[in-house]
Amino acid sequence: MRIGIDVGGTKIAAGLVSESGRVITRKKVKTEVRKGYPSVRDQIHRLVRALFSEAGNRAGNIERIGIACAGQIDQRTHTILFSPNLNWSNVPLKHDIEAATGIETFVENDVNAGTYGEWKFGFHGESSNVVGIFIGTGIGGGLILNGRLFRGSLGVGGELGHITLNPHGYLCNCGNRGCFEAYCGGSYIVSRVKERLARGYRGKLWDIVEGRVDGLHTGHIEEAYLSGDDLCTEVWREVVEYLGAALQSIANLLNPELIIFSGGVVAGAKRLIDDARLVMERRAMQASIAGLKIERARLGDDATLLGAAFVMDE
Ligand SMILES: [Zn+2]
Repeated sequence: MRIGIDVGGTKIAAGLVSESGRVITRKKVKTEVRKGYPSVRDQIHRLVRALFSEAGNRAGNIERIGIACAGQIDQRTHTILFSPNLNWSNVPLKHDIEAATGIETFVENDVNAGTYGEWKFGFHGESSNVVGIFIGTGIGGGLILNGRLFRGSLGVGGELGHITLNPHGYLCNCGNRGCFEAYCGGSYIVSRVKERLARGYRGKLWDIVEGRVDGLHTGHIEEAYLSGDDLCTEVWREVVEYLGAALQSIANLLNPELIIFSGGVVAGAKRLIDDARLVMERRAMQASIAGLKIERARLGDDATLLGAAFVMDE
């Protein structure tokens, strides 16, 4: 058995996982981000202890612990260099959990883990060149190349969300201009629409959200676009065009067999992926996209947890 843990900015999900990739038991707690690293580390340790007892109270029954979290992880020193969600820099999570439990522990970027988990268990390892694209508030990426997770030289590669699509474009949270994330990340899209609502825009969108701007999400914006709202047509067409352009760039660069989409923006959208695919087909070199499959993720939240538990075998 193994333990997989997904440390997010709002919750920590942990599971006891069989060698065949079945989640036997799940546990979940709210992340105490504000209390800082030592507190979250202790939460993780307590979850591990709780799962130990599920595994028959013998640490020897647990082969490995895999932990996924957002951010940049130096795979040479296994230190989390920077995690904006968790407000961590240079934290030795692998070392601390190993010291506390005596079990081999591995720390992986969450989107890398999610992509690996989907590929291995959601898609049963089919295709050996696979791209995972996670679109939530921001955008993360994971790359499986020639049947292995690709991390780059330090371990921080695969940042698809921060490829530049327009050098003079919108400002991104990373400091660059015109990133894929700045165009297609959920929080950026919503804030562009909210700005216009604050300046007095009304229209079909206003009716759809019944004036409750606080709860506005990208699903509302797509819905308003589909019903002809002027502002949402302008905003959503831009999102589709840039997402399609990103897919085209990725396809021409890597010639993948499979692209797996996940994340809240994708889950809440009806036509986004199909519409972006048409843009990609119009722009890409035809050989680059011949046979390319574009699919939605199949495992939900379990992908990251399972990926974390198994990706260390890479
Ligand atoms: Zn960026």
